[in-house]
Amino acid sequence: MAALLSLDQALELLLRLADEEPIEEVESLSLVEAEGRVLAEDLIAGVDLPPWPNSAMDGYALRLADWQGQPLPVSQKIFAGQAPAPLQPGSCARIFTGAPLPDGADCIEMQENCELLEDGRVRFLQPLIAQRHIRPQGQETRVGQRVLGAGTRLGPVQLALAASLGQAQLGVRRRLRVALLSTGDELVEPGLPLGPGQIYNSNRVLLGGWLRRLGCSVLDLGILPDDLQQTRARLLQAQDVDLILSSGGVSVGEADFLGQVLREEGALELWKLALKPGKPLTCGRYAGVPVIGLPGNPASSLVTFALLARPYLLRRLGVERVQPLRLQVPAGFAWPKAGGRREYLRVRLDGGQALAHPNQSSGLLISADWADGLLEVPEGVTFEVGERVGFIPFSELFG
Ligand code: AMP
Ligand code: MG
Repeated sequence: MAALLSLDQALELLLRLADEEPIEEVESLSLVEAEGRVLAEDLIAGVDLPPWPNSAMDGYALRLADWQGQPLPVSQKIFAGQAPAPLQPGSCARIFTGAPLPDGADCIEMQENCELLEDGRVRFLQPLIAQRHIRPQGQETRVGQRVLGAGTRLGPVQLALAASLGQAQLGVRRRLRVALLSTGDELVEPGLPLGPGQIYNSNRVLLGGWLRRLGCSVLDLGILPDDLQQTRARLLQAQDVDLILSSGGVSVGEADFLGQVLREEGALELWKLALKPGKPLTCGRYAGVPVIGLPGNPASSLVTFALLARPYLLRRLGVERVQPLRLQVPAGFAWPKAGGRREYLRVRLDGGQALAHPNQSSGLLISADWADGLLEVPEGVTFEVGERVGFIPFSELFG
């Protein structure tokens, strides 16, 4: 038997393929439209942030050297959005959060530590400290600084950062176009009656929704029957795409026509992964278009998409960090027998411990709904209750 390919090896191969075919077209989008997309060029700060020193507090601004412990008169009031006059020597300025610091001031005291006297002067109740409560110019970014790198995925924080720099449009990579195929004679779309031996197509919804969340535009080619002619014809429909993503039908079984067509007319690598669930995976090319064939069992589709297809897609868009965050969490159960394949268990975090769903069958999705994420059990590893094990939250994977 051929040696199994480790998950790390498979990922490395896929990322190399992705690096060879980066999406290069760029479109300029408004910040709202750019949500979830990948930045195509570095974002360089065109302004200092903040653009001028300003107050972090509601209070009073003064020059520390003017103060020997005596109350000071208030010479001006500065609200956010106003341009202050230089500070009159021997006085203080009423100032509010976000208002520019007047020239000459070098200290702000918050109003809670000040007493406004009846004659209008302000007494400072505690020792004052230079630069206190002042946000200096350029504290966050300086003109010319690289704030976001090309390849950054744009979420609310990154878009808000671009907004704070005054950027209205961003250059982003065009959407990846992915043709989605569900293979199998047994599949029926929800809403239609089930015939004998048939099941509803769930992978189409799982993978289609996931692809859209990743910012892909999906060409849904529906269900592909287990038939040679139709497999060929359907693959040829998927020409103007960056990837054909299929589920099912890729092994070397008699009804695995997708695998057969790819082997005979395309280029096919059939990988047997040291992975559970999700042992068989196809990677190939048909009429020039890259193909990734995921295993058909829903939990296998989920795991292989999460750990292989998702990073591949992100890397095509130039994303550098394509791996999901892994947290270390204590196991709420023991793993006494080391396995030969890396296993991903559907687990829930309960009281800070990972509990595994009792049914880890690759045919089930219901345990993935129950779970908060995947516990990563490397090949050859055992662990005791309480030992820390790698955990990937679903929120990392689906975002
Ligand atoms: P296959 O990889 O085609 O041998 O399929 C493996 C298992 O996954 C079989 O039990 C299939 O019925 C099931 N399966 C394949 N595709 C889907 C799908 N799109 N939705 C739900 N189950 C599927
Ligand atoms: Mg099948």
